[in-house]
Amino acid sequence: MKKKIKYLSILLVLFIVSLLTYKQSSDKIIKSGNDIKIFVATDIHYMAKSLTEDSLEYKEFATPRDGKQLLYIDEIMDAFTEDIIDGKPDVLVISGDLTNNGEKESHLDLADKLSIIEKSGVKVFVTPGNHDTKNMWARGFKEGKQVQVESIDQNDFQEIYKDFGYSEAISKDETSLSYMVSPSEDLWLLMIDSNLYFDGEGMPTNRGTITRATMEWIKNCSDLAKEKNAQIITVMHHNLLKHSERMSAGNTLENSEVAIAIFRELDLDIVLSGHIHIQNIAIDENGENSITEIVTSSLAVYPQQYGIIDFSNNNGFNYKTASVKVDEWSKAHMLEDDNLLNFKEYSKSTFFDRPYNRAYYSLKEIDVYDDEEIEKMSELVGNLNLAYFEGNVYNIRDDIKASPIYQLILDTDSDYVYDFVYSMIMSGNKDNSSIHIPKK
Ligand code: FE
Ligand code: MN
Repeated sequence: MKKKIKYLSILLVLFIVSLLTYKQSSDKIIKSGNDIKIFVATDIHYMAKSLTEDSLEYKEFATPRDGKQLLYIDEIMDAFTEDIIDGKPDVLVISGDLTNNGEKESHLDLADKLSIIEKSGVKVFVTPGNHDTKNMWARGFKEGKQVQVESIDQNDFQEIYKDFGYSEAISKDETSLSYMVSPSEDLWLLMIDSNLYFDGEGMPTNRGTITRATMEWIKNCSDLAKEKNAQIITVMHHNLLKHSERMSAGNTLENSEVAIAIFRELDLDIVLSGHIHIQNIAIDENGENSITEIVTSSLAVYPQQYGIIDFSNNNGFNYKTASVKVDEWSKAHMLEDDNLLNFKEYSKSTFFDRPYNRAYYSLKEIDVYDDEEIEKMSELVGNLNLAYFEGNVYNIRDDIKASPIYQLILDTDSDYVYDFVYSMIMSGNKDNSSIHIPKK
């Protein structure tokens, strides 16, 4: 009996030691020559459950015109967490707009969820978007009414996310929320705070910039990385390059021309960003020094997409998209909500409806098409929009161009339908959902 107890206690000690060393090894930097896997998500626009309620008013608020699935964002985030634990990346990066409108409760709850991800051995690094700090639109719901709730400032942001970048940084910019981390000896992440703030207030406009002071700090980061033979991937909320004719100029950095020139000079040739909620890849070619920027679509928007990066010193950089498996997660947790159990279809059909309806009424108004033509033209608009957000227009573009309905659209007097279709077809000249960049 005594022997058995001794044996069990030795096992227990061994178990505890293995737990401790496991925790330690997850904090360790990946050694040179080893591959690294990174998941990248953006524009989660998370909203704490405690700020929501089961009322018509909240339902309306949580079904915004831009298609964010606010109503189910908590479930989407939990399903994503399981996808991450199953996929075992080394790192998760989130490039801003972590919360719906900077609500303190949303930040705190999201940080709890990120802790679960870190406990599974994944390093999480975040950077702020224009919605995340000092947001005067922070709202919750009580008895069918919107109520103003507390937001956070820059100091709170660093405190709440200290385990997700700020306490792990090998360098920190003193003038912004930018920092650099080295999850691997070969690959470092430059996490830039690209918000253009109202003067002295620390309140973000929705526009982006990299200030002169932050630019100087970036140069030092680049020097440091070169000294240690590490490649840098840059992560920020706003776009460095232009990604869409349809979206207004405010999405790219105000000083993008200067920034592009400096990035090129410093070999900062891979950028990950968000903000525009669509999936797109842009390449700024300039001889051998091209810059590739990958914008991952918003996790809150159909098809609840994130990016998977595999980086190795031999094979270079690979990026592809994946979709959060909300359906499977809902089934595994035996939920009863049909929308969640068939989330892919639900998310798709709700996102299809808005441009479809807009096209339908616009075409009906000009009164030259029969009902069948109007339906088919509107369907094309709806389907094209889905593919646009997936980054997959490329795959259906030739079929669309060959269809008689497309010819009708090219001649239409509906500016809405023509501009919508034309610009999306133009965007589909390449695959926007995956890319391989060979090692230089
Ligand atoms: Fe956003
Ligand atoms: Mn944004």
